[in-house]
Amino acid sequence: MSRFLHPSLRSLTPYVPGEQPKAAGLIKLNTNEAPFSPPPAVREAVTSAAGRLRLYPDPESTALREALGEKLGVPRESLLMTNGSDELLYYAFLAYARNGVAFPDVTYGFYQVLADLLDCPTRILPLRQDLTVDADAFCAAPEMAVITNPNAPTGLSLPLRQIERIVRSAPDRLVLIDEAYVDFGGESAVGLTQSCDNLIVARTFSKSRALAGGRLGFGVANEAVIRELTAIKNAINPYNVNALTQAAGLACLAEDAYFTEACAALAALRDKTADTLRAMGCAVTESKANFLFVEAPGVPGETLFRRLREQNILTRYFNQPRTKDRIRVTVGTPEQMDLFIKEVGRIMEVAK
Ligand SMILES: *Cc1c(COP(=O)(O)O)cnc(C)c1O
Repeated sequence: MSRFLHPSLRSLTPYVPGEQPKAAGLIKLNTNEAPFSPPPAVREAVTSAAGRLRLYPDPESTALREALGEKLGVPRESLLMTNGSDELLYYAFLAYARNGVAFPDVTYGFYQVLADLLDCPTRILPLRQDLTVDADAFCAAPEMAVITNPNAPTGLSLPLRQIERIVRSAPDRLVLIDEAYVDFGGESAVGLTQSCDNLIVARTFSKSRALAGGRLGFGVANEAVIRELTAIKNAINPYNVNALTQAAGLACLAEDAYFTEACAALAALRDKTADTLRAMGCAVTESKANFLFVEAPGVPGETLFRRLREQNILTRYFNQPRTKDRIRVTVGTPEQMDLFIKEVGRIMEVAK
């Protein structure tokens, strides 16, 4: 450590992203990327935008917000586009979480990292025994609430009426719903943002729009909150969404039918894979996301992760008391899922 670093950052624990391996031949089921690519029109839009790289991008992402607002049924003043939804989460924590923030014990690891970075006092509200979010506990908590829905890495979804109950239980307390996986089968709270001014919904193009490399996310909220978050964005990174990504995002919105179909096919493969694993004796949560949270009887999560890795199948293992028996596996192509199922079966056989 250099002697120049500010004391507040000396114990910083950064987020550890899933491995992005360089080696060829690995089956990458560890970071919930889409197994399908964006349609050709998206690449064409990026190529065309590349002819204008001399110019700064539109700092307000106006065309993108216009098209997105139309699709979601909200005014563009209710939208802020960001460099991945992680950037939106950062601004929201910076603006609203510093008096305190509540989130589940098992959820997206980035929230704790942000809370530490920004010195936000945290209240951890454990998931219930069945790994579902404890809505009553969130209703009772005075701090800003942050809930991933569907949750990660469990994949479990909280019904919209429960989200609404939490939001309406305390109108002076802000609720942030992270809907990174909502397009694979969850219920979105976006519609509630127009009647509840204490709700922020974070969304991303990274998973269901196959645009993880483009870095595009957004926030939906009432206009006052979006104005504040936009002011923060303009104080930190005014040109936060680059021109190529704005073009890609706009093209993705025009190809909605393609993505709806791709997400539906992925959800069907997810459910089929879960059924097969259950028939083999595995415990698999009722996932509404693009991944499965899997426990193989007699095989600790870390062992399962390691043995799969030896077979060039990359998954994610979270070394915490409530997740250590399981791995999270991204739903890939049908061929990849067949291979995954076969290897899990072999590993279980050896462990007998
Ligand atoms: C992937 C993910 C994000 C971040 O997505 P980006 O838009 O790529 O920054 C946010 N929240 C959750 C729960 C995620 O899984």
